[in-house]
Amino acid sequence: MKPRNLFDVAVVGAGMVGSACALALARSGLRVALVEEHAPTAWNAADEVDLRVVAIAPSSVALFERLDVWTAIRSARAGAYRRMYVWDSGSGAQIDFDAADGGSAELGFIVENRLIQHALWQALQAEPGVSLRCPARVVGTDDDGDTRVLRLDDDGRIVARLVVAADGASSPLRQLLGIGAGGHVYDQHALVAHVRTERPHEQTAWQRFLPGGTLAFLPLADGRCSIVWSLPPAECRRLREIDETTFLQELGCAFDFRLGPVLSTSARAEFPLRLLLAERYVAPRFALIGDAAHQVHPLAGQGVNLGLRDVDALVEAIGGDAERDAGAVTSLRRYERRRRSDNTISAWGMDGINRLFRSEFEPLVFARGLGLRAVNALGPLKQLIVRHAAGR
Ligand SMILES: Cc1cc2nc3c(=O)[nH]c(=O)nc-3n(C[C@H](O)[C@H](O)[C@H](O)COP(=O)(O)OP(=O)(O)OC[C@H]3O[C@@H](n4cnc5c(N)ncnc54)[C@H](O)[C@@H]3O)c2cc1C
Repeated sequence: MKPRNLFDVAVVGAGMVGSACALALARSGLRVALVEEHAPTAWNAADEVDLRVVAIAPSSVALFERLDVWTAIRSARAGAYRRMYVWDSGSGAQIDFDAADGGSAELGFIVENRLIQHALWQALQAEPGVSLRCPARVVGTDDDGDTRVLRLDDDGRIVARLVVAADGASSPLRQLLGIGAGGHVYDQHALVAHVRTERPHEQTAWQRFLPGGTLAFLPLADGRCSIVWSLPPAECRRLREIDETTFLQELGCAFDFRLGPVLSTSARAEFPLRLLLAERYVAPRFALIGDAAHQVHPLAGQGVNLGLRDVDALVEAIGGDAERDAGAVTSLRRYERRRRSDNTISAWGMDGINRLFRSEFEPLVFARGLGLRAVNALGPLKQLIVRHAAGR
């Protein structure tokens, strides 16, 4: 018998990754505590579409289906994309992917972060295996050998066999544990907004490589596109602040008027970008997941999808047996082995693509044009890329 105040796992952070993790662990039979500093904002269909959206890959949809939250998300406001069209302003080369080529109905979905968090939070509130501590902030942690203790800002304490930090890129827990993180700050910020174009988006995720960075038009369920435009910080600020008419003209021009003129825009927001990789994912009775372990360039829309794959791997490594010690070192090592190399390869892969396509060095522009055209002509290679992006 376990003491009543001892949890198998305490998850810190109820973002998309931490919430999915707490729910998945509880559904596998473990007793879970979830600590979050800020209660998630409720999602309402009548609200304006939130500016923060993510491209959700099939592997993430599969996890949400297993957690019984996908139907609620899908029916609320998720935009499917069935094609992806990418082209390079420098070489003029293009590549396109079609879900039908891989025998699927769609390549993924564009969903508001807030909607995903809301659906997970509702499921967590109804889940008897989860004890929610919100609002509460973790301010300290101690390893007691058989357990780890979390100290909270309200003087509370949580004792668990394992602490999972899903507390975001600046992860206070990663810092408390003294785990270093490598990487660099990009000389780019992301400008995001929702825009209406003259022609329909055709359920296609459009992306253009430009010397300053990538410009993506992602199809929203309401017919508009969500743009994510990576730019040098000064240029990003200028575009965020200029008047709407000039912005729409410059945006349409940068997008080569692929969907006709851009007719209107929502408010614009800006996010700094960085590559961050934790030097270790585990410590005694401790594991890092999601952005707390890795933060990647958004050009391939993979950040939260990688985090949700961490959840799958962690649950597989430690879940399923309520009698087993959830913080056993062998399970944690198995989790780290499965995820660290995949995340590292993905992060540096996106970094390499970002560098390659920003270059204006003629021989490189010529070579990448040849490369893109060759890949576009090779059906099996394209299918392999789609399968990788889908997390299969
Ligand atoms: C412009 C942009 C576009 C993006 N597009 C995509 C995309 O298309 N597809 C994709 O997969 N990813 C995308 N991403 C990445 C994605 O948004 C992130 O990977 C994801 O939001 C990270 O989720 P998380 O749950 O790991 O962390 P977070 O969302 O940062 O959650 C961390 C949580 O921990 C809580 N917390 C922190 N410290 C404490 C503490 N001490 N005590 C208690 N609680 C604490 C915080 O309040 C927060 O709720 C994009 C990112 C950007 C910037």
